[in-house]
Amino acid sequence: MSLTNELVVASGNPGKLREFGQLFESLGLRIRPQAEFGVTDVEETGLTFVENALLKARAASSASGLPALADDSGLEVDALAGRPGIYSARFAGEPKSDARNNAKLLASLAEVSGAARSARYWCALVYLRHADDPVPLIVQRSWEGEILEQPRGEGGFGYDPLFWLPSLGKSVAELGAEEKNRLSHRGRALESMLTALRGMTQR
Ligand code: IMP
Repeated sequence: MSLTNELVVASGNPGKLREFGQLFESLGLRIRPQAEFGVTDVEETGLTFVENALLKARAASSASGLPALADDSGLEVDALAGRPGIYSARFAGEPKSDARNNAKLLASLAEVSGAARSARYWCALVYLRHADDPVPLIVQRSWEGEILEQPRGEGGFGYDPLFWLPSLGKSVAELGAEEKNRLSHRGRALESMLTALRGMTQR
């Protein structure tokens, strides 16, 4: 298999596209957002991050004729029995809103304190060589933290102002972009994915 230098990223989320762009730039790979091919968000009918990432990647590859990379990600909060999970983007309903999702998360945890506010981000990353690829590359990574009682910081997106990293004494929204990419569920999943892709080219 030859590793193409162009691939479509199956996301319309500006925060994710920015992070993928930064990560790929250093590797000389050109990423093209699915919007360039008229792909809008697919219906996420799966019950797992992996299933939803596969649905997204297949739709983007089919429309573009390019290999596709898709991520499906979300927040798992222990005190909420794992919610919002795969419903993280639409936790507070449609239309999707980070501000309303964060407000709902704080309200849901009003009675929970300290270490019981443990949570983690998950990222499932899927790479398809083509829309009918029967052997998708799949990587899943998590990032442990706790949910703050008030937002902190201006960076990142989504739940980042509420996601506290005890070992760093910072919220994710207080990290620089490069630092987040190095540590995050998505950044580390991508790093493993790129290692796997390089391995495929050498088979
Ligand atoms: P998806 O686009 O369907 O995968 O939804 C992912 C959702 O999970 C986002 O809209 C955010 O609410 C949340 N999420 C995933 N990754 C992150 C992150 O790195 N920071 C903050 N929120 C995230």
